[in-house]
Amino acid sequence: MAAYQFIDHTYDVVVVGAGGSGLRAALGCAQAGLKTACISKVFPTRSHTVAAQGGISASLGNMSEDDWRWHMYDTVKGSDWLGDQDAIEYLVRNAPQAVYELEHWGVPFSRTPEGKIYQRAFGGMTKNYGEGPIQRTCAAADRTGHAMLHTMYGKSLSYSTEFFIEYFALDLIMDEGGVCRGVTAWKLDDGTLHRFRAQTVILATGGYGRAYFSATSAHTCTGDGNAMVLRAGLPLQDMEFVQFHPTGIYGAGCLITEGARGEGGYLTNSEGERFMERYAPTVKDLASRDVVSRAMTMEIREGRGVGPNKDHIFLHLDHLDPKILHERLPGISETAKIFSGVDVTKEPIPVLPTVHYNMGGIPTNFYGEAVTRKGKDPDAVVPGLMAVGEAACVSVHGANRLGSNSLIDLVVFGRAVGLRCAEVLKAGVAQPELKPSQTDGHLARFDKFRNAAGSIKTAALRLEMQKAMQEDVAVYRMGETLKSGVDRLEVVRQKAADIQVTDRGMIWNTDLVETLEFDNLLGQAMVTAAGALNRQESRGAQAREDFPDRDDKTWMKHTLAWCDQTSGKVAIDYRPVHTYTLSKDIDYIKPKARVY
Ligand SMILES: Cc1cc2nc3c(=O)[nH]c(=O)nc-3n(C[C@H](O)[C@H](O)[C@H](O)COP(=O)(O)OP(=O)(O)OC[C@H]3O[C@@H](n4cnc5c(N)ncnc54)[C@H](O)[C@@H]3O)c2cc1C
Repeated sequence: MAAYQFIDHTYDVVVVGAGGSGLRAALGCAQAGLKTACISKVFPTRSHTVAAQGGISASLGNMSEDDWRWHMYDTVKGSDWLGDQDAIEYLVRNAPQAVYELEHWGVPFSRTPEGKIYQRAFGGMTKNYGEGPIQRTCAAADRTGHAMLHTMYGKSLSYSTEFFIEYFALDLIMDEGGVCRGVTAWKLDDGTLHRFRAQTVILATGGYGRAYFSATSAHTCTGDGNAMVLRAGLPLQDMEFVQFHPTGIYGAGCLITEGARGEGGYLTNSEGERFMERYAPTVKDLASRDVVSRAMTMEIREGRGVGPNKDHIFLHLDHLDPKILHERLPGISETAKIFSGVDVTKEPIPVLPTVHYNMGGIPTNFYGEAVTRKGKDPDAVVPGLMAVGEAACVSVHGANRLGSNSLIDLVVFGRAVGLRCAEVLKAGVAQPELKPSQTDGHLARFDKFRNAAGSIKTAALRLEMQKAMQEDVAVYRMGETLKSGVDRLEVVRQKAADIQVTDRGMIWNTDLVETLEFDNLLGQAMVTAAGALNRQESRGAQAREDFPDRDDKTWMKHTLAWCDQTSGKVAIDYRPVHTYTLSKDIDYIKPKARVY
C-alpha cells in the first residue's frame, strides 16, 4: 500500500453534510460556542435539499384551524404505526417554531392575501383526525428546499462554522470501546487525506436513492454516512422502507411535486377515469404516497395504463387557472416542458411511481444520538455519534413518510442535535490522541479502489446493482423476487473484487468518487433487500403480495441490519417501536386499519 499522510484537524463537532439538516445542526453547534466544522462533498447550496419542491409541514393554521395533535395523528397513521410516537410528538410540537425561525431568517415563503405564510394541501395531511384534506404544508412556490437551503447557508456564514467544501468523507474513526472519535476525508481538488478529530460527529449525508435505476434524487444521493455506519460494525434501521413517489416524470424520473395535486391536480387512467376515487374515497388523489403508488401500479397491471405501452398514468393540471400554475407551480411547469415536452396548461403529464425517499437509516433517539441494540438495552447510545436528516431514522416516518414531513424533520432535529451538543459537550476539552490502527482500514479501502485495475468498470457494476433493486425490490414485493434481488446483489458484490477504476493515479478522479459511492450504495442495497425479504407482512412502503396484511402482533418492530464487510453476510435483528408519547398532552395513538 502507498504511504499516505493525514492532515490533522481538531474540532468539538464535525458535521458531515451541508444539506438542510447538516446546515441547521452546524448552525446550532456554532451558536452554542462549540468549534464546529462542516464537511461536504458538494458546495452546500448544491446539496440535494435544494431540489425539494412542495413545502414544509407545520400546523400553523394559516388557512383554517389546525392542531399539532392532528399533525401527529396523520404522521403516525402515515407511518403505518412503525414511527416512534415520542419522536413524532417532538417533531410536530416543534414544527411551527421551526418554520417561524426560517421565516425570521429570511426564507421567502409564498403569502396569503393577508400576508401570512401560504400553506397547501399534501397527501395524508388531514383535519380533525382524518376527516378530509387540510392545508398544512408551508410553501415557497414550488422551490421550498431551494429557498431554505440558500437562506440557511447565508445564515451559517454569520456564525463561526468552518466549511470544508468538496471534501469526501471516507469513514468514521472508532476506538476500541466503540466510541466515535472523528472522521477521515479525501479532499477532491488536491487529493490530500484529512483526519478530523471531534468529540462528536454528526452524519447528515442524506438518502441513498441512487441504489435504484430510476430515482427523483440527485446522483450525489448515495447514503455515504449510512455506509460508514455499516463499516463501523453498527446497524441501520428499517432500510426495507423505500418510498416511491407517485409522480416521477415517465422516462426521466424528475419529480412533479405532490403540491401539484395539493393545488387540485388529479390522476387518470387510459379510460379517463379518476381512479383514486376508488382506492381512497375520502381524500382521493391526496392519499399518502404508498397508497397512490400502489393504486397506479394496479391500474397499469390491469391494463389501464396510458401511452402506447400502457405503462404509465396521466397527471392533469390542464384544468387549473394558468395564473395559479404560474404563481404556485412555476418550477414543475418548466420541468414538465423540458423533460416530457408537455405544456401543463394544455396537456396531462405522463408520470410513474419513482424512488424518492428512504425512511430507513441510522437509528437515533429524538436528540439525534445514534443508538444501537447493545446488550439488553435497545436504546443504548453510540458515544460520539449523531445523525440527522434523511440519513437518520429517528423514527418519525416509520414505514411511510408523509410529503413535506422531511423538510420539517431536517430543521426540527437539526436544531435538536445542536441543543443536545450544547448540553453534553464542553468547548475545547482535550481529546484522546488518534492511533494509526483506528484508520488503517480506511486507508486500505481507499488504496484498494484508487489502484483498482480489474476488468469491470464501476458504471457497469452500478447499473447491475440498480437494475436488481429496481426489478426485484420494487413497489410490490414477493418472497421469490426479493430472494432473486438478494442473490443478484451478491453476484455484484463478488464481481466488485474485479472492479476497474479509470484514471488511476490521477489526483482529480471523478471515477474514484463514483467507485467509493458505488461501494457505499451496494452495502445499503444489500441490507435493504435482506430486510424486505425477512419482513413477512405489508406495512407502508413494504407491500408484500405474498403477505398482503399488516401483522402488528409479529411485525410492529424496527428492523436492525448489520453487514459483515468481509463475507457480505447481512445479520438482522429487531427492536421495539416506542409505544409511548413524550408528554401527557396526547395519548399513544393505537394501531387501526389505515384507510384514506
Ligand atoms: C425532488 C425531490 C423533492 C422533494 N421535495 C420535498 C418537499 O417538498 N418537502 C419535503 O419535506 N421533502 C421533500 N423531499 C425530501 C427532502 O428534500 C430530503 O429528504 C432532504 O432534503 C434531505 O436533506 P438532508 O439534509 O438529509 O440531505 P441532503 O440535502 O441530501 O444533503 C446531504 C449532504 O451530505 C453531503 N455528503 C454526502 N455524502 C458525503 C460524503 N461522503 N462526504 C462529505 N459530504 C457528504 C452532501 O454534500 C450534502 O451536503 C424531496 C426530495 C426530492 C428527491
